[in-house]
Amino acid sequence: MAPRVSVTVLHRFRAAAVAGVLAMVGTVASGNGAGAAIPVPSPDGQGFLTRGVTPAENPADPLVLVNKIHPLAPRDWAPDDLARPDVATLGAHDELRTEAARALEELAAGAEGATGHELVLVSGYRSADYQRRLYARYVDAHGRRAADTFSARAGHSEHQTGLAADVTEEGTTYTRFGRTDTGRWVAGHAWRYGFVVRYPRGAEHVTGYAAEPWHLRYVGTELATRMHLAGTATLEEAFGVRPAPDYAR
Ligand SMILES: [Zn+2]
Repeated sequence: MAPRVSVTVLHRFRAAAVAGVLAMVGTVASGNGAGAAIPVPSPDGQGFLTRGVTPAENPADPLVLVNKIHPLAPRDWAPDDLARPDVATLGAHDELRTEAARALEELAAGAEGATGHELVLVSGYRSADYQRRLYARYVDAHGRRAADTFSARAGHSEHQTGLAADVTEEGTTYTRFGRTDTGRWVAGHAWRYGFVVRYPRGAEHVTGYAAEPWHLRYVGTELATRMHLAGTATLEEAFGVRPAPDYAR
């Protein structure tokens, strides 16, 4: 468990990071950046706020893009700084990369403070090997076409980065998380802690997955804040890359 004092410091740090993005956006948007090659904001600000944000190729970078047409490289990559966040878990697959683990602790504290309910980590880091077996089990049960709408093939799962967390509210099956107090709070506030709801409703044609209110992806507070301010729903749009509705067969 992280000592309370360092959590407080982290809170301050993240607040400062968010304030920094807000201040910078305000400065540029009000035209004070004379001389610099400043992009003209589009009417909704969307392209402006995320322009120049590119996905990282390094799987260890929080800005790495993982989807159906962009696998991890190498496909069996594994993080080396896994940590068990001090939150409620189901007792398995309960690790995340250290930075994401600390951020999840803060998110859980924020959620509980706001809703009175405990946030539970259902599934964090999953190895390529485990993902291979999980996907195979789904294909056996539902067929490949159906399995591809809700389960990733090995090398294509964000869970393999250690930056993705399936979460729920205490006492609730994760598939119902979106309808819980905690689920609604997380949808509106996760960005403050550096997380995005990775597979939002209505973006299936972009992400390749049915809506998953429970699947959070850590990208850091700067990108999460920019996406929030711009109303950008998906990482594909934030990065300006093509949609990934399906695997390249
Ligand atoms: Zn997930």
